[in-house]
Amino acid sequence: MISHNTSWIPIPEDSDFSIYNIPFGIFSDSDTTKRVGVAIGEFIIDLSVAYEYGIFDDLNIDKSVFKRDYLNDFISLGKRVTSKVRIIIQKELMNANSVLKNYPTPLISQENAIMHLPVYIRDYTDFYSSIEHATNVGKMFRDPANALLPNWKHIPVGYHGRASSIIVSGVDIHRPKGQVLPPGKSTPIYTASSRIDFELEMGYIIGKETELGKKLNTKNAENYIFGKVLFNDWSARDIQKWEYIPLGPFLAKNFASSISPWVVTMEALEYFRVEGPEQDVPVLPYLEFEGARNYDIKLEVALQPKAEEETIISKSNFKYMYWNMAQQLAHHTMNGCNLNVGDMMGSGTISGKSPDSYGSMLELSWAGEKPIKLKGGDIRTFINDNDTVIMRGYCIKDNKRIGFGEVSTKLLPAKSR
Ligand code: CA
Repeated sequence: MISHNTSWIPIPEDSDFSIYNIPFGIFSDSDTTKRVGVAIGEFIIDLSVAYEYGIFDDLNIDKSVFKRDYLNDFISLGKRVTSKVRIIIQKELMNANSVLKNYPTPLISQENAIMHLPVYIRDYTDFYSSIEHATNVGKMFRDPANALLPNWKHIPVGYHGRASSIIVSGVDIHRPKGQVLPPGKSTPIYTASSRIDFELEMGYIIGKETELGKKLNTKNAENYIFGKVLFNDWSARDIQKWEYIPLGPFLAKNFASSISPWVVTMEALEYFRVEGPEQDVPVLPYLEFEGARNYDIKLEVALQPKAEEETIISKSNFKYMYWNMAQQLAHHTMNGCNLNVGDMMGSGTISGKSPDSYGSMLELSWAGEKPIKLKGGDIRTFINDNDTVIMRGYCIKDNKRIGFGEVSTKLLPAKSR
């Protein structure tokens, strides 16, 4: 971690993209070629241009790795290289005589850039690792006295999701249609979902592949994580309720899932490591771990109706996660299941203890019983047409701030056919 924050680029004090961050993403501008960039303040540094000034010469990187549609090839260079690229950029940004000040400039205003899906996600797994979320859902749909199922404190429960419908922030989605069982009826109808929900999650991107048959353990698993993004796991609760028995969610979840465009590296997050909640039931040896394995990442969800100001409807924190990422990966690979660079793992909905920290409308409105009041006077139990859901996340400690920017998605009305 660098001890001071002086750069020749002006960086607003409350910027998510401080000198301590340097997240990676894929962007384009008037030149529509997609390139690899890093975010700093209100700018992007085009690494394909920065490369021309020789700053990465010692790393023996092929320039083409910065002119790709996705970060996968860059990530595949390994942390030994990618962490050095980040440090070189930090040094150049603090060097008043940096070659990056030369013309042509590698600096592009974020306002003038289009951000793209940062990673080609081949496989996506979603965990269910917040004890508060699992408990709330159990109370609503099963037995309030036995809300957690017997396996929950022994297994980091998860399911394989659908990677093809993961979209980047800014892409609008349509209200999905599907099979719904109307209350009191015994046969389903085909209709637009009336219970569209978000799930406040974080995703992490796998940075190193494993061979089929190889197990990770809680000591080495974190070396296989490149970085993290904000993740909105859109859900259609009425479709989910009818379809999920016995194999879990299917079409209620795979119509869209949104991620933030900048991948914040584990190196940047290291400074914000904290202890997680106590795991009060002994776990099997392969899930035991040592040290602080959670991260203090403040999260919030805002809901913005069309042409109105936004209302913050939830404030949560990634540190509430019961199961940590090292345990999730040790579990995911314990049967020999292999991981690929660019795979994404979702945390599961991140709810805290207090009702204002719940990470979904299902919990915030308690399945529709407690409508949420918005600033403009509207109320919501689920998401309405033309609402935009915005998630943000940041870390702050000792005046050092890093953040994820946002993942913002607008829900358009269902298509007419
Ligand atoms: Ca989820």
